[in-house]
Amino acid sequence: MNRPPLLTLDEALPQLLAHARALGRQETVSTFEADGRVLAQDVVSALQVPPHDNSSMDGYAVRSCDLTQADTVLRVTQRIPAGSTGHDLGAGEAARIFTGAPIPPGADAVLMQEDCEPLDDAQVRCRVVPEVGQWIRRSGEDVTRGATVLHRGDRLGPAALGLAASIGLSHLDVAARPRVALMSTGDELVMPGDVPPQAMPPGAIYNSNRFFLRALLERMGCNVTDLGIVPDQFDATQRALHQAALQHDLILTSGGVSVGEEDHIKPAVQSLGELHLWSLAIKPGKPFAFGSVRRDRKATDGPSAHFIGLPGNPVSSFVTFLLLVRPFILSLQGARQVQAPRWRLRVAGDGPRADRRREFLRARRNTAGELELFPNQSSGVLTSAVWADGVIDNPAGTVIRAGDVVDFIPWSEWLA
Ligand code: AMP
Ligand code: MG
Repeated sequence: MNRPPLLTLDEALPQLLAHARALGRQETVSTFEADGRVLAQDVVSALQVPPHDNSSMDGYAVRSCDLTQADTVLRVTQRIPAGSTGHDLGAGEAARIFTGAPIPPGADAVLMQEDCEPLDDAQVRCRVVPEVGQWIRRSGEDVTRGATVLHRGDRLGPAALGLAASIGLSHLDVAARPRVALMSTGDELVMPGDVPPQAMPPGAIYNSNRFFLRALLERMGCNVTDLGIVPDQFDATQRALHQAALQHDLILTSGGVSVGEEDHIKPAVQSLGELHLWSLAIKPGKPFAFGSVRRDRKATDGPSAHFIGLPGNPVSSFVTFLLLVRPFILSLQGARQVQAPRWRLRVAGDGPRADRRREFLRARRNTAGELELFPNQSSGVLTSAVWADGVIDNPAGTVIRAGDVVDFIPWSEWLA
């Protein structure tokens, strides 16, 4: 059996992403529905936000030249609640004004009501001397007309939806959801609910990868077709892959990419397209496969679906998804930023022995903000991923000592 080439992550990721051309399909969705989607067009503002100078306080709009000393009394000649407009403010006059209401022409400052004493409906004593411009929000201080407020390739979050709405957009053009077919391989797999724990036959395990992979894909904006468990047989695997290729942009499998006799993914993909099998120099997550499956089974080239095969061990599957599949899927959507940001954090205690491979160690921050490592870093121990709030990216051959500052990728950034 040929050994797959050993690749570092820094070699593998660019090779993988070179295949992840943006799908180019886009759709228009309600701004309400755009959370997590990737913008397909720049968003340019047709107006200023705020549209006019307005008060940031409940109080009185004044002309600062009228108030050169404290305790000056002004005539209150107008009242401007939010949603209405005032008129010219004359010498010696004040306008009763409320938060968000436009500043009347002539006024150049607002006094907050706590600094004023209404004498009657028509007069107010101003206890302080205002600075020019105080408590005024300037037109355009948030957004100027013509400004590009969001860019093509931005991944939208709740604040971006609010910003789009603030310039009047009820709909946004976003990249279409990648269509992903998900398959689990392994004759040992049983679906939770099909067999109760006490009746599990020897050698059987529950299919856990299917659950987190589906959730991860959905978080990444994909339309997922879950094809369930494919039997460990060449014909069944080939049939499932061919069917999946017809209607999907990406076929994602877990398990069956080692080079054991029961691993049928490799020959099945090769029979329908192209396959690269890598042994990644990372821990967890060694075997990794990618390639393509042609839509037309008889053709030798033509349109195809992408194929990615993840390792079967749950933590390997989870981590390689985040390291490789996540950026791949974001690239299919034309996202500009496909890497999760990292933080530099101090480690509370000593780490494990150095490893020849680059490690992604499950860790979490303690109340002092220092990282603690989960004691069992085995690739089968999914508890580590639940306990942790991210991973330490530990370079090959590096021993971590208490007090070292390391690269940490938090789930909060990576699972978003
Ligand atoms: P494989 O890559 O198929 O050789 O699988 C490696 C290990 O991961 C084996 O112990 C499998 O039983 C386990 N495994 C494979 N697929 C799954 C899955 N969907 N859920 C849980 N464990 C799995
Ligand atoms: Mg297997």
